[in-house]
Formats: sequence, C-alpha cells, structure tokens
Amino acid sequence: MIEVTLLGTGSPIPDPDRAGPATLIRAGGQTFLVDCGRGVQQRLAAVGSGANALSALLLTHLHSDHIADLGDVIITRWVTTFTEQIPLQIIGPPGTKRVVEATLEAFGPDIGYRIAHHADLTAPPPVEVHEYTEGLVWDHDGVRTVVGPTDHRPVEPTIGFRIEHHGASVVVAGDTVPCAGLDALAAGAGALVHTVIRKDLVEQLPMQRIRDICDYHSSVEEAAATAARAGVGILILTHYVPAIAAGQEDEWRARAATEFDRQIELGSDLHRVEVHPGVCAKSRS
Ligand SMILES: [Zn+2]
Ligand SMILES: [Zn+2]
Repeated sequence: MIEVTLLGTGSPIPDPDRAGPATLIRAGGQTFLVDCGRGVQQRLAAVGSGANALSALLLTHLHSDHIADLGDVIITRWVTTFTEQIPLQIIGPPGTKRVVEATLEAFGPDIGYRIAHHADLTAPPPVEVHEYTEGLVWDHDGVRTVVGPTDHRPVEPTIGFRIEHHGASVVVAGDTVPCAGLDALAAGAGALVHTVIRKDLVEQLPMQRIRDICDYHSSVEEAAATAARAGVGILILTHYVPAIAAGQEDEWRARAATEFDRQIELGSDLHRVEVHPGVCAKSRS
C-alpha cells in the first residue's frame, strides 16, 4: 500500500487554512515529500512526521510556491537529527543544485551560529542533490521512483514522479498542462495526484497577471481527462486555484467526473488516500 497525504493544498495565494503545495508519500517504511510549500512542516508535524524522517525530498519544479520552505526543511532536519547526520536526498529538475546551494548560502549565518554553539554540530547540513528530467531515480528496499517530463512552460524543465511499491503506484504530476510526458508516466498508475485550477473562474478575474496562469496549468477537466487517458484508478486533485469555497467540493468533483468516471479525491490539507496494489484499471474508459 502507498499512502498519499495532501499536506498543503494551497497555491501562491496565501490562505489561512491551506498550506502551500506539498504532498507526502509513504511506502514500504520510506517517506517522500513532494514539493515543500509554505507551512509544510506544521503539516508534517500534524501527521507525526518531520524533516528528519524524510527518505528524500522530490521537487517537481522551482516555482516559489513549491519550494518556499526548502531552507526550513534543510535546517530543521539538521538541527533535529540527534544521531548520525544522513544527507538529505533532494531530487529535482536541472536548476535544483543552484537553488539548494543558494539556500545554504542564504542560511550561512544561521549555520555558522549553530556550529559555533553546539559541540555536536560540526558541519553544515548534509545534502545530496540529483537533477533529472526522466528515468529511474530511486530504487531502494522495494520502492522505485521514476521521473518523467511535464509541460509547465515557460517554467522548464519540470518533472513528475511515479512511486511504485509492491504493485501499488502513485504519480505526482506537479504543475503541468496535458502532455505526452505525463500521459506516459501515469499510464496504468494506481493514483494520479494532479494540481488544478478552475479556469472558468480564473478567466473572469480582472487582473491579467492572474489570468496568465491559465496557459500553463491544467483545469479540473483537463486533469481528469489526463487521468482517464492514462487509465489510472484514483484521481487526487490538489493546489486549488481559487481555493475551494466551503460546500463547493461536490461542484469541483462533478467537473472532474465529466471526464473521469472512477474514484475522485479532493479536500482540505491532510486529506489522506490509500492506494492499494491492483487499483489501476486494466481496461481504460
Ligand atoms: Zn508552477
Ligand atoms: Zn504551483
């Protein structure tokens, strides 16, 4: 079984009730954090996890809302690890090394203070960054992770992740328009976690800068159509723009159901979905 928890279902727009984009994947005793938007560590604490428990941090792309708390994750893992420091594995698209190095540089004073103050902290936070656009990126103790390209241009390159464990599989798409790369990555998966925006609502807003987001995101219907093409078992929607208003969940679900006739999941932060082996549909609808 793979457990998916929507840690943060928000977007760049600050919301009192929704943390920034982040999804927790737990499989085979391993813990993967996909993206680390604002507030991610409060949400990790809420599910009994933390930065020091991560097997790897997976980044779909380098937009600020998806990496807002990167520094906090790195520093907090370091200061809350009381045993041997194991390097944080960070897997992201090309450009990730530059962002991680700059983050460590930005926290340079803090890192210096802590090394000076604590006898058992003798070196900066250990991190290992791996940049990929496709292929197998993780294969440990029965958990495999494959990366595939997505399309969020002009943000590029961007990637999605497919995590597999004992016949169960989950694909986390990140921000993307429908594309062949995601179709291939998601084919036959047990679940697809997809960011969505309501283009019907966003297109009515008076600010062109906000309307701009329509051309590089999937609408609810487009994400659902991707799920249907790929024959996935469960569609999990997140990163709601605008935030789902109270009582509007069914309307969002109905829009997805116009394209996808299987299980559709959405909700508040900490919404949890279990993905079991064999969920993936043999015959595509
Ligand atoms: Zn983005
Ligand atoms: Zn985003």
